[in-house]
Amino acid sequence: ADDDQGGEDYLFKIVLIGDSAVGKSNLLSRFARNEFDNNSKATIGVEFQTQVVEIDGKEIKAQIWDTAGQERFRAVTSAYYRGAVGALIVYDISRRTSFDSVKRWLDELGGHCDTATIRMLVGNKCDLENIRDVHVGEGKYLAEEEGLFFMETSALDSTNVRTAFELVVREIYNNVS
Ligand code: GDP
Ligand code: MG
Repeated sequence: ADDDQGGEDYLFKIVLIGDSAVGKSNLLSRFARNEFDNNSKATIGVEFQTQVVEIDGKEIKAQIWDTAGQERFRAVTSAYYRGAVGALIVYDISRRTSFDSVKRWLDELGGHCDTATIRMLVGNKCDLENIRDVHVGEGKYLAEEEGLFFMETSALDSTNVRTAFELVVREIYNNVS
């Protein structure tokens, strides 16, 4: 606890969900360590990373959970979702099947988290404009339909990565403060 701050401490659990290989692990490593990994290897070991975000002069700890590759087996456990106050549902703008899966991920999320959980739809790999398979308008439309925030990102060139995570943290903060 930051007793010297004289204020409250905030710890927000945020989960990353979405099909395998959409870039969840790289979004997290870009946000938490400013790193990108070109090798498409399954996530190993790390359950979550904590990143401090400052909002209105308050230090907020964003504890961001990454799947350990369980999504390949369509079996993300309920422990993964437990206590989550935010979720980023990620698809790959160059792979339509990952966009088609979004509704299924939303259903699963809805089965584990209440409606107060802040949700953002994230179209990752927007650097791959030349092989785009999902129009930005489709992402926007789905987000509007489902009541989600929306952003396109690139973990590769950093576009909107910090902005997306910080927006989710800010919205959670606005909800609880
Ligand atoms: P995860 O399975 O959802 O965690 O996806 P990964 O983070 O492991 O990424 C899967 C593959 O996509 C890897 O080869 C990454 O290098 C690549 N990748 C991730 N994010 C981006 C991005 O924003 N742009 C591009 N071009 N490739 C990406
Ligand atoms: Mg991963």
